[in-house]
Amino acid sequence: MYSAIAPLAPKAIDQFQVQFWGVRGSIACPGKDTVRYGGNTPCVEMRVGQERLIFDAGTGIRLLGEQMVAESRQNNHQFNKGHIFFSHSHWDHIQGFPFFTPAFIAGNRFDIYGGLTPNGISIKERLNTQMMDPNFPVPLKIMGAEMHFHNLAIGEVVGIGEVSVTCTSLNHPGGATGYRVNYRGRSAAYITDTEHRIGELDANILRFIEGVDLFIYDCTYTDEEYTSSTSSKVGWGHSTWQEGVRLAQTARVKELVIFHHDPSHDDVFMDEIARSAKKMFAGASVAQEGKICDLLAN
Ligand SMILES: [Zn+2]
Ligand SMILES: [Zn+2]
Repeated sequence: MYSAIAPLAPKAIDQFQVQFWGVRGSIACPGKDTVRYGGNTPCVEMRVGQERLIFDAGTGIRLLGEQMVAESRQNNHQFNKGHIFFSHSHWDHIQGFPFFTPAFIAGNRFDIYGGLTPNGISIKERLNTQMMDPNFPVPLKIMGAEMHFHNLAIGEVVGIGEVSVTCTSLNHPGGATGYRVNYRGRSAAYITDTEHRIGELDANILRFIEGVDLFIYDCTYTDEEYTSSTSSKVGWGHSTWQEGVRLAQTARVKELVIFHHDPSHDDVFMDEIARSAKKMFAGASVAQEGKICDLLAN
């Protein structure tokens, strides 16, 4: 059902492929019980036209970086370039960045985007703090690649050739930004981390994802876990896969990808979610490391 991690076609011009490099929320959880769905934290790559877009730099970005270095070697050491969009800077979304090898290679170029925190701290400052002594031995400023940082305002549209990326704010402690990528009439939305309100679909998200082909959503919990009388997750900043299905159905989304899995959900549990979600919504599937969605395939 799923492909193994493999390089995407590097030369195709008309492509819109999405590959999952890290699908786990909160903290990396490698181990025998999570080996099929994967234990790395969020990183999603989109190859759109001739552009490479990357969403979040959780621990999954390390593997993507190795893939990029290998591709560049195969292509006469051609330099890498890309656009990295951060949802926010909780650890699980930035921890892989100091291990993203292409960012250390002079000649490579990355445009890096993120919203400001409510008290005005930029994504550059937050990545910098993570790498400051004694947290990490190598500071951000001596990473070799050319980096251009962009502070995004909600509603701003980023144009990258034929690709346009729009952004919206999400309901998460400290704030988070959701993204929608549009290219030649196809679209994909990356919506994590966010919390819903029980019994009321998030009108902002509904508007933002209307008619999208691929909807990647924060499905950390099940509805049952979220409202559990003994260990409720209300107020923790995350949503459920059932809410993802409700949003997908109402916004006439084609495909829902269940994402940001709770570290306590092992492979058997994720299989169960995949089955139940498919019953409720035929276009639902569970994100798995290596999974590729091809938006131009049909
Ligand atoms: Zn997260
Ligand atoms: Zn978060």
